[in-house]
Amino acid sequence: MTSISPRKPFLSMVAICLILAYSSKPAFAFGSHKMITALSEATTSSISTSIGMINSDDAVAVPSSFLNPIIASVKPSKTVEIFSLVKEMEAAGEIVTSLCVGEPDFLPPQAVLDATIAAVIAGDTKYTAVTGTADLRNAIAADLKRRKGVEYNPANEIVVGNGAKQCVYQGVLATCGKGDKVLVPAPYWPSYPEMVSLCGATSVIVETKADDGYLVTPEVLRSSLEENPEIKLIILCNPSNPTGGVYQLEKLQALANVLKDFPKVLVLADEIYERLVYEGDCPAFASVDGMFSRTMTVNGFSKAYAMTGMRLGYVAAPQPLARAITTIQSQLTSCAGSLSQAAGVAALTLVTDEELDANVEIMREKRDYVLDELSKIPGVSISMPPNGAFYVLPDVSAYFDGDDTKLCLELLKAKKMAIVPGSSFGAPGTIRLSYATSIEELGIAMTKLKEFLADNA
Ligand code: PMP
Repeated sequence: MTSISPRKPFLSMVAICLILAYSSKPAFAFGSHKMITALSEATTSSISTSIGMINSDDAVAVPSSFLNPIIASVKPSKTVEIFSLVKEMEAAGEIVTSLCVGEPDFLPPQAVLDATIAAVIAGDTKYTAVTGTADLRNAIAADLKRRKGVEYNPANEIVVGNGAKQCVYQGVLATCGKGDKVLVPAPYWPSYPEMVSLCGATSVIVETKADDGYLVTPEVLRSSLEENPEIKLIILCNPSNPTGGVYQLEKLQALANVLKDFPKVLVLADEIYERLVYEGDCPAFASVDGMFSRTMTVNGFSKAYAMTGMRLGYVAAPQPLARAITTIQSQLTSCAGSLSQAAGVAALTLVTDEELDANVEIMREKRDYVLDELSKIPGVSISMPPNGAFYVLPDVSAYFDGDDTKLCLELLKAKKMAIVPGSSFGAPGTIRLSYATSIEELGIAMTKLKEFLADNA
C-alpha cells in the first residue's frame, strides 16, 4: 500500500507558486517534484538570468538567494565526497579498494569498547556539561601534563567537542571573522581554508617545500606576517596531514621566536596525529616558551585510539579563549556524546603507552611498504618520507598532464580504487594515500595503482 505524505503536495504547491511568481510566462502544473523540476527547467532559463536558480539532478530548483552567500565561497570536503561515493559503490555490491580516508583499520582498544558498553548499561545517556564530563576533562588535563608538560585547568581551560574537526572550527570561529586573515601552510588539511571561509575570514596560503620537510621556515613566517598585518591566527598541523612533516622542538622554538615580534598573532595547533610519530617526538606548541597564552591546542581520539565514529575531540586553551569556544558550542551541539566521553576516559586512563606505541610500529611497517612499492613505479616520486601521521603524498604529475583529479576519478572507474587528489590539499600534481588500512588491502592497492599508471603512461 502506498501512503501519501501530506507534505509533498504542500511543498509542490509552494514551489509552483514560487515559479509562477518569478516567471513572466504563465505556467501550470500538478504533481510530483520531478514534474516541478521539468516545469522549472522549461521556465527557469529566463528566471535564472534575472534571479539565479540552483538545481541539481532530481531536485526542486530554488532561487540562489535562498542560500547564505557564504556557501558560494566554501567547497565540500573532497575526501568525504569520495568516501561517500565509495560507500555508495559498496552498497551496490562493488568491492572498492579505498585509501582515501584517514581511518585506522583496527578497532579501538578493548578497554575503550568495554567502557562504552558499561556506560550503556549504566544508562549514561544524558546531556553532559557543555565542556564535557569532569572525569574526561580531568583525564585530558592529566594526559597533557604527563606527556606534554603543559598545565591546563580542567575546570575552565578544556572544551570537549564532537571530534577534533568541530574543535578546529570552533577555535577559528571564536577568534576570527570578517577582515581577519588566517595563515595556512600548504599542503594543508582541506577543511582549514573552508572553515576559515565559513567564519567570514580569509586564508593566506603559504607554500612549504619538500626540502624543508614541508615545514614553514621562520623566514617565511616572518615575511608572511610582515606582508599581511591582518593575520590573526596561524593553523599549525603537527604532524601534518597530508605531508607527514613533523615540527620538533627546535623548529617550534624558531617559529615561536618570530611570533614574539607579532604579539597579536594566535596559533591553533592541530595535534591530532601527535601520537603517530616515527622518529623523535612532537612537542605541544603550547609548551614552547612564551606560547601557552596564545595557543589553542586541538587533539582527539579518532587517530591514536581508532575512535573515528565516536566523534570525540577537544581543545585546550587559556580561559578566555576556552570560554568563547564554550559559548559557541553551547549554541551548536550542547555537548559531545555521553557514551563517547565515557569511552574517552577509558582511552586516557586505561590504555597503556606500550599499546599505542605498538600501533605506531605497525603503521611504520605499512609506511615503509607503501614507500617501497611507490618507489618502483616509474614517474612517481616522493620527495620527503613522512615522519608522522599515516599519509603519503607522491608526485604523479607525469600522468594525466598533471591533472590529479582526473587521475583519481579514472582510477576509481577503471580499478575501483579510491584516493584523494592532492589539489584539494593545495598540492596539485600529487595524490594523497592513507596507509592506515590492512597490509593485504595495501598490497591490492599498490598492484592496482601500478597497473593503472602503466596503462596510462
Ligand atoms: N585534523 C586533521 C589534520 C585531520 O586529518 C582530521 C581527520 N581527518 C581531523 C582534524 C578531524 O578529526 P576528528 O575525527 O577528531 O574530527
